[in-house]
This record gives sequence, C-alpha cells and structure tokens, in this order.
Amino acid sequence: MSLFENTLSQIEKASKLMNLSSEVKDLLSHPQRKVEASIPVKMDDGSLRIFQGFRVQHGDYAGPYKGGIRYHQQVDMSEVIALSAWMTIKCSVVGIPLGGGKGGIIVNPKDLSEGEKERLTRGYVRMMYPILGPDKDVPAPDVNTNSQIMDWFADEYSKIAGKDARGVVTGKSIEAGGSKGRNEATAQGGVYVLEEVVKDMGMAPKETTVIVQGYGNAGAIVARLLSNDGYDLRGASDSQGGIVCTHCMDPVELLSCKAEKGSVKDCGLHIKDMHDVEGVECVEVSNAELLEHECDILILAALENQITSENADRIKAKIVVELANGPITPEADEILAERGIMVVPDILANAGGVTVSYFEMLQNGSGEYWSEEEVLKKLKPIMVDSCKSVRSNMEKYKCTMREAAYISSIERIEKKIREKGIL
Ligand code: NAD
Repeated sequence: MSLFENTLSQIEKASKLMNLSSEVKDLLSHPQRKVEASIPVKMDDGSLRIFQGFRVQHGDYAGPYKGGIRYHQQVDMSEVIALSAWMTIKCSVVGIPLGGGKGGIIVNPKDLSEGEKERLTRGYVRMMYPILGPDKDVPAPDVNTNSQIMDWFADEYSKIAGKDARGVVTGKSIEAGGSKGRNEATAQGGVYVLEEVVKDMGMAPKETTVIVQGYGNAGAIVARLLSNDGYDLRGASDSQGGIVCTHCMDPVELLSCKAEKGSVKDCGLHIKDMHDVEGVECVEVSNAELLEHECDILILAALENQITSENADRIKAKIVVELANGPITPEADEILAERGIMVVPDILANAGGVTVSYFEMLQNGSGEYWSEEEVLKKLKPIMVDSCKSVRSNMEKYKCTMREAAYISSIERIEKKIREKGIL
C-alpha cells in the first residue's frame, strides 16, 4: 500500500462513520495541484547536477496551503501527496485557517556542502516561485530541513518578489522573522495532548515509562519535556540504532552524548558511567527491538511505516503517540485498536508545529512579535480543546482516536467547501 493509499483508507473509514457525501470524499481524495521541477545545481567541484523537487497543494478550503519541505533520498510524488493531504486534515483538526501542502527534494543533504544546499534551496524557490507566496502557499521545515534553509528560502523569494516577503515560509530563525517557541512547538503540542489522554486513562506521569523512536528535533524535545513533567525515559533510537535502560535516562545528557558520538546507540555506557548508579544496565537494541520493548508510552518521532501488520502484535506500550507523520500503517492501526492500545494520531499529536507556524505568519503580517511564554499560552488551549473535541467524537461515534480526529477535521472542511460554493 502506498502512503497515499494509507491516507485514502483513513479518509474512507471516517467517511463511513460520519456518513460523508461522496463529493466531499472525492475532493479530499484528489490534490488540487501537483508540481514537479528539475533543479540544476552547480556543485563545488564545478560539475552540474539536476535534482528532482516536488510541491503538492492538496486543499485550500480553509486558507493558504501550508506544509513542510523534506530533503530525503526516498522522497517521491506519492509520499508528498500523502503528506500534503494530512496537512489539510491536520490544520482543520486544530481549526487554524490554513490548507494543506507539502514539498520535497530527492537528495541526501549529508552528501552536500552548505554552499550546495543553499544553491539547491534557492533553485527550488526559483522553480516553484509562481505557486508560492505568503497568501498562497507557505512551506516550512520538515525532515532534514531547518531554519537556515528557511532563511535562504525567504531571502530568495523576497529577492524575486522585489520586496520583503519573509512570510512565504515559516520555521525561520528568530533573526529572520521566525517565531519564538517554533522549535519546541511540535513536541510541546504533543505533550499537551498526551497530558489529556494520560489523565483520562488514570495514569500518573511519575509511574509511566516512555520510549522515543527518532531522537531528532521532535523526539529529543519531547523526551526533555516529558522528563521535566516526571515521566521516566527508558529508551531512544535514531537511524543507526537504539538503547534501552533499566533506569530513568537524562534526555539532555543523551542529546549531548548523541552529538558527541553520532548516535544514541553508543550512549548507554556513557550515561551509566556518568550516573554511576548501581545495578543500572543499558543495552544496545536494533530499531525493530526498540519498538517492541516494554514501556507505557511509545513515541514515534522518526519516519513513516514503522509499525506494520508484521510487528503490531508485539507492541507492548499502552499508548502510542504519532509525532511523526504516518508511522503506523492502516493494518497495524486495526491490530493495535483490537488489542486495546490507544493511538494518539499524527494529525492531532504533531499539529502543534503547524499551529505555531500559523502564529509565525500572524507575527510576520503584523510586525508584532510574541514572547515564548505568549506563544505557549496561545498554543495550549488550541491543543487541549482540539483533543477534547476529538475525545468527544470518540464517545459519540464509538471509534478510535484517529477516526474521531478525521471526523472532527472533515466536518470543518465540509463546511468550508459548502461556504465556498464548490458543492
Ligand atoms: P529529524 O530529522 O530532526 O529527526 C528524525 C530522527 O529520526 C533522526 O534522529 C533520525 O536519525 C531518526 N530516524 C530515522 N530513521 C529512523 C529509524 N528507522 N529508527 C529510528 N530512528 C530513525 O526530523 P523531525 O523534524 O524531528 O521530524 C520527525 C518526524 O516528525 C517526521 O515524520 C516529521 O514529518 C514529523 N513532524 C515534524 C515536525 C517538526 O516540527 N519538526 C512537525 C510535524 C511533524
């Protein structure tokens, strides 16, 4: 099943439960625009390489298209379509006036110098310029893209536009017009939602163990935030492997160890030495083993398709949180639901990122910039209220949290579609 087929199957399930008209379902099943570009880049050695770039605009029913740009060797059109559809659905779950888009370039950025990355980014902007803009389509960072790349993006777009148009992307550095709190927003939004779920399930943070798959931007920050709230971090992984410990790990030390050694998998002994706690054991595990390890909460913060029909039976967590987009396949989702495992779906769990991106657009538009405290004060009620309305749809439709989140979202989109006279 392709990633977009996964998305369609999720839309289909919600459609049946809510008795959605076939016209709205059809609209959601077709992205409005797909663009593919060949981007020429002069490499440092003087040679020329052509990179393939994509931008998909799925739906602008609620507002301008919004969604990240991914630099990865496995990017393809089907993946970008799926991710763009999830953005339309996600923005609507949290009720922000934005539509869904997504972009990507087929590249392993680790193979490029900073100069080559900059020329690639500027080349992408030149190719996509006609379809982008602060009121049209606003990209953001995603896997392997960051604030530096967004700053180049905003600068190139503004140069072509002949004016300051920094609102064309979010996730910029603070100096270039970024929002305070954007870096933490995805993880923080997930924590606000998780707090509601944990409360409803009668669990106490201090007695709750957590494992994080994908110790990158979202994963390392969620580990830190949860540890601050008293949760017990027992394992983590990155693309090279993972570790699990018999004792609570320090997420900040783990991050600095990863920076030093290149992977969390090499940090077990290091951390054990630092704490010098008797009886503590950390063992290296494969990525597959980490997912199946004993814990209360498993946070998925890496890539798609991590829990499938092959391993869903062996997941031991009580709650699985999708900070990544699409880490659980539809077949696996059914198995987890049958086993009574609560899945907090991506379209709600990681929506804090796009919500603070929206705040960045507002700040760029008004020229007034908010403190981090103000950002979090505005983010929390959006995440908590969205979670409550999803939980109430779970009761109403007797369905999973994912199905309920789709229903909350599609109800709003349908209203917009009708208001616009498309139907
Ligand atoms: P990132 O590149 O900073 O981190 C990804 C991490 O996953 C890296 O540490 C990488 O080594 C690890 N990883 C890759 N393959 C793995 C594997 N097989 N097993 C274990 N770890 C693996 O990216 P990020 O920004 O943290 O994004 C992670 C996920 O969250 C993506 O799916 C992204 O779309 C989603 N997301 C991120 C944001 C955001 O604001 N950063 C917002 C919404 C959704």
